[in-house]
Amino acid sequence: MLVCEVLTLFPGIIDAYASESILGKAQASGFVRVHSINIRDFAEGKHRVTDDQPYGGGGGMVMKAAPIFEAVDRLRLDGEERRILFPSPQGRRFDQAFAEELSLESRRLTIVCGRYEGVDERVMAGLVDDEVSLGDYVLTGGELAALAIIDACVRLIPGVLGDARSSSVDSFSWDGLLDYPHYTRPPVYRGMRVPEVLLSGNHEEVRRWRRKEALRRTLVRRPDLIDRAVLDVEDQTLITEIKKEEGHEQD
Ligand code: SAM
Repeated sequence: MLVCEVLTLFPGIIDAYASESILGKAQASGFVRVHSINIRDFAEGKHRVTDDQPYGGGGGMVMKAAPIFEAVDRLRLDGEERRILFPSPQGRRFDQAFAEELSLESRRLTIVCGRYEGVDERVMAGLVDDEVSLGDYVLTGGELAALAIIDACVRLIPGVLGDARSSSVDSFSWDGLLDYPHYTRPPVYRGMRVPEVLLSGNHEEVRRWRRKEALRRTLVRRPDLIDRAVLDVEDQTLITEIKKEEGHEQD
């Protein structure tokens, strides 16, 4: 079972998301356990203060190191191994390969959520194994990032998704392509028609169309992925067709 521990000042954010939908079902079925830990419970004093002014001056507050170290010390009493992650815009970019790596972790995933201007740097020096970034933008706190990391990992655990094929045809899965377009009933909506081939019942034509559209999307939207994609002879033929259709014969 994947065990995720989220150290946060706002455990309600984690609990609300982790109890719903696929993640909620995955917890109920024993594939994963998401445990929120309130950092404030490990702060000292009557007011349990978790932040302070930055040394050197300047605006904003910094999360104190001590409550976070204390919380992790308490967790470690169980003797389990942990991989400690800190969501940060300065970290390694989170992607599907990183999610696959984390979904196979035998250690517990312990995620420390920053707030305010960030966390005392000694937390990174003394506790954190990986700093993980969702992208080149700044969020208000690490909770959304922690949930994104957990969500992306859990749906990769075999058995979590009802349909075993779902995550294997997702974007960035085994072949490195974007997913093909999806449609459901009705066949015509506001004048927009479902492609005829999907209504044909011809499984081979449907398979070929989906492959071609996955290739087209990747070529048009994320050409950077094509060089690393797993492609066969049929794919090369489809790419030639797509380039003609899209007016890129020279490429
Ligand atoms: N001053 C920090 C900086 O510029 O690097 C940003 C602090 S941010 C307002 C508060 C917290 O949100 C961070 O400590 C981090 O935990 C989280 N966070 C913000 N942006 C993030 C991102 N792109 N990826 C992951 N976590 C992020």
